[in-house]
Amino acid sequence: MQIFEQMMRRSHEQVVYCNEESAGLRAIIAIHDTTLGPALGGVRMYPYATEEDALLDVLRLSKGMTYKASVAGLNLGGGKAVIIADPRKDKNEVLLRAFGRFVETLGGRYITAEDVGTNVADMEYVLAETSHVVGISVTQGGSGDPSPVTAYGVWKGIQATAHAKFGRDDLEGLRIAIQGLGKVGYHLARHLVQSGAQVTACDIDAARAKAVGEELGIEIVAPETIFDVPCDIFSPCAMGGVINDETLERLQCAAIAGAANNQIAEERHGRLLEEKGILYAPDFVINAGGLINVYCEMDGYNRDRALRMCDTIYDKLLEVFRIAASDDALTTHDAAQLAARRRIEAVRRLRSL
Ligand code: NAD
Repeated sequence: MQIFEQMMRRSHEQVVYCNEESAGLRAIIAIHDTTLGPALGGVRMYPYATEEDALLDVLRLSKGMTYKASVAGLNLGGGKAVIIADPRKDKNEVLLRAFGRFVETLGGRYITAEDVGTNVADMEYVLAETSHVVGISVTQGGSGDPSPVTAYGVWKGIQATAHAKFGRDDLEGLRIAIQGLGKVGYHLARHLVQSGAQVTACDIDAARAKAVGEELGIEIVAPETIFDVPCDIFSPCAMGGVINDETLERLQCAAIAGAANNQIAEERHGRLLEEKGILYAPDFVINAGGLINVYCEMDGYNRDRALRMCDTIYDKLLEVFRIAASDDALTTHDAAQLAARRRIEAVRRLRSL
């Protein structure tokens, strides 16, 4: 594979291959764009079938982080790291510390955090070797689990979506279907119930779904039927790729607004949503609360500040909807990317003064 060609295709600044044989570490760190600030993004641990798969994943994810940070108005660039290993078998202190030493060599150009396959406890090993890590535990002076803050931001984003689609901010009586009652979905459901919404939800963990259903008094349906639930807003809070050819035939909602990353399977599905009259809140705008939360950790964590910054997701989404509405050629997903690029370009021009 031509690595420079892949980097140029997505305008990456730097790709770092990390090899520490004694620790069994094989990792790739990708720094996409540092115009707005240091590149921040989690480290994913996954047993990629090939090095090529790992490289393509880290390039794609790091670019997404640039856009997410930019739209959220943060002074951060986009980066990501992948460790080619199985978190169930290969994860240990030495491996994570070895990764931390490579992060340290970048002198703060890249800041790491937890991601799929790593967790808050793992970041404490990374912290032993570098200060360029966020998302560490509250007991270590960090911000801990970001999920409640992410859920708060998604709740604000659902209010903005209701405003744009139904001309109202209050969620009283709105029918909202949530896919996934995990760390984010649970807190989101709680906010929605408190707002008077009529929530239907599911989770493949049947025991968890039942317990949350009883606690919050919400309707629980089988996971395979969630796409068929007639509702005002569908909120994907489980995995990516849920908006695809098959589900588009089934969805009976007026809008989609949820926490899951990479909800649209392919870019063309954004256009198909629009053709069906379904308003889509771009995932990387509405789910920025987790990133905002770790950003706030960088100069002394304050939960209230993180929540106030999440309030701005409301206005950011309305701006994205406005840009999309002003140009027929743009989906809301395109509009969000455009808003991200515009801010980066404006700051880049400023630097040249
Ligand atoms: P989680 O693992 O705690 O929860 C996901 C839940 O979805 C689990 O309970 C799981 O059983 C359920 N699930 C999986 N597949 C399902 C299916 N097909 N149908 C129904 N339920 C299913 O994860 P989370 O932290 O709550 O994150 C949820 C989503 O939001 C993920 O896509 C994640 O990448 C994204 N996200 C999370 C954060 C955060 O702060 N945690 C921030 C940004 C984005």
